[in-house]
Amino acid sequence: MNQAEPISVHFDARVLDHDTGTALHETQASPWFSVNEPHTEGRLRIERMHDVLERGPIADAVRFAPGRLAREDELARVHDADYIRDVRLAIERGGGWVTGTTRLSSESYDPLLAAAGTALAAAEAVLSGSSSMAYALTRPPGHHAQRAQADGYCFFNGVALAADAARQSGIDRVLIVDWDVHHGNGTQDIFYERDDVLTVSLHMDHGAWGASHPQTGGLEERGAGAGLGCNQNVPLPLGAGNTAYLRAFDEVIAPIAERFRPGMIVCASGQDASAYDPNGRHNVSMPGFHGIGTRVRELADRFSEGRAILVQEGGYNPSYAPYCLLATIEGLLGREATPDPLAYVPDQTLGLEELFTNIAKGT
Ligand SMILES: [Zn+2]
Repeated sequence: MNQAEPISVHFDARVLDHDTGTALHETQASPWFSVNEPHTEGRLRIERMHDVLERGPIADAVRFAPGRLAREDELARVHDADYIRDVRLAIERGGGWVTGTTRLSSESYDPLLAAAGTALAAAEAVLSGSSSMAYALTRPPGHHAQRAQADGYCFFNGVALAADAARQSGIDRVLIVDWDVHHGNGTQDIFYERDDVLTVSLHMDHGAWGASHPQTGGLEERGAGAGLGCNQNVPLPLGAGNTAYLRAFDEVIAPIAERFRPGMIVCASGQDASAYDPNGRHNVSMPGFHGIGTRVRELADRFSEGRAILVQEGGYNPSYAPYCLLATIEGLLGREATPDPLAYVPDQTLGLEELFTNIAKGT
């Protein structure tokens, strides 16, 4: 990738119209509160990410491009036709809660098609050669959407669609790298028995989440059949931060890529591993996300002629996630890192002895 070449950022404003309403954090209203808050997965997070890219320090290197609606026959490449119909019918009946945290409105279908189609538009930009790197700035996320199961705010799996598009274009092997703080269980499910798409998921070690989420994201989930060995989970302990994520890239992902030799890198790009995320218990800050972007670019330069497709996943603190996205793309572009305005602060013990000694002495 030429350093001067901009990144193509695909955006379709229709994704903002997926109305998740107000809630107690992310679940149905509680009798304990008289005032609810916007659902965690709302339009604000993406609007603010769009702002940072449009007006921030790398605006000159960002080329906004349109998304599009996915067709149902395109969705059916990674989802069961019956499941797609069930999602559409649920929306036509007025939407509502699909799981305890995941919600549809009566107007959600076009936004969901736009989310999936924008991932495809980003893939098409890279696969056609019009951009080396493309980012689908979209919502809701997709990586929990399994072949026939909505889960974790997700309905259609954009990363899986992008990886499939790369395969359809004639690329033999696709590497998916998922650094959303949650296990990319939907993507794992879709490609679990395939050896042409290798999935790596970095996530907090959260275990299984019930019937809709039978996977644990553990090391033992390695793929099956022809796909055995083509699924790598990296469950990181709670509190893991920049060091853990960058070591995972250097010590797990880089050797896997060396062995697998992918012709395309597809990324599930979340910012919910950040230190301030309400849905994550990890501790990554802007320098960590910059390091992730740098490493994705290195992987792309080494294996896929500088090409990579990135799809927005989680990232739920509207104050900080946009900065983390900025840092990721600065890394991708080989740009200097913007200083972190919320900079991670370590557990501070400096001066405590003197302070408490002085208080005890009454000074
Ligand atoms: Zn997530």
